[in-house]
Amino acid sequence: MNIILLGPPGAGKGTQARILEEQRGMIQLSTGDMLRAARTSGTEMGKIVADVMDRGDLVTDEIVIGLIEEKLEGDHGGGFIFDGFPRTLAQADALGTLLEKHGTKLDAVIAMEVNDDALVQRITARSTCANCGEVYNDMTKPQPADGKCTNCGGAEFKRRADDNAESLKQRLMEYYKKTSPLIGYYYHARALEPVNGLGEIDEVAAGIDKALG
Ligand code: AMP
Repeated sequence: MNIILLGPPGAGKGTQARILEEQRGMIQLSTGDMLRAARTSGTEMGKIVADVMDRGDLVTDEIVIGLIEEKLEGDHGGGFIFDGFPRTLAQADALGTLLEKHGTKLDAVIAMEVNDDALVQRITARSTCANCGEVYNDMTKPQPADGKCTNCGGAEFKRRADDNAESLKQRLMEYYKKTSPLIGYYYHARALEPVNGLGEIDEVAAGIDKALG
């Protein structure tokens, strides 16, 4: 099964993708994580995208489609969870073509619905374990008092450079202008499954589970 987690920044796509990986043996493909890894390792591409990401703009379709294309060559496992991709209509078209080329298809698009106030609250309170990527929230799921990640025991936590008020404003604007048209695109393709993204993590996970059947 191949699915897309579609939703604005802070909707909980990464958190839910990790749960789906554990529960269904699927493989998370997050273009945001791939781009951040390219920055950290200092590749040419990483240098090109750094400023764009910090501003909250989208990087070019060509770069992210290339990243996804590489990953589709690998192990398919229990299917792919596309997290943060596609973000434009051109990326959505490219994904359809790539999946077809690999003899597979898209099974569902989970549209995670969260209002703007909750997004801002979540993003400005968000941190992750530097080792395993477990997501924490200062209000709803604070970093453990003993300073050790509940998932892997790691002791280092980090906040994303673009999780600040100014970048967030731009990221939301990019979402509404360029990504939200994908809701109509996939509705038309009869693949769209709206899920309320506002509840507790396990409530949202249950909603996704139900939508996937
Ligand atoms: P994310 O971790 O998904 O919130 O992505 C962080 C940043 O990476 C975004 O604000 C964009 O600058 C860039 N990015 C991630 N995925 C894409 C994509 N599919 N298309 C364009 N830019 C992307």
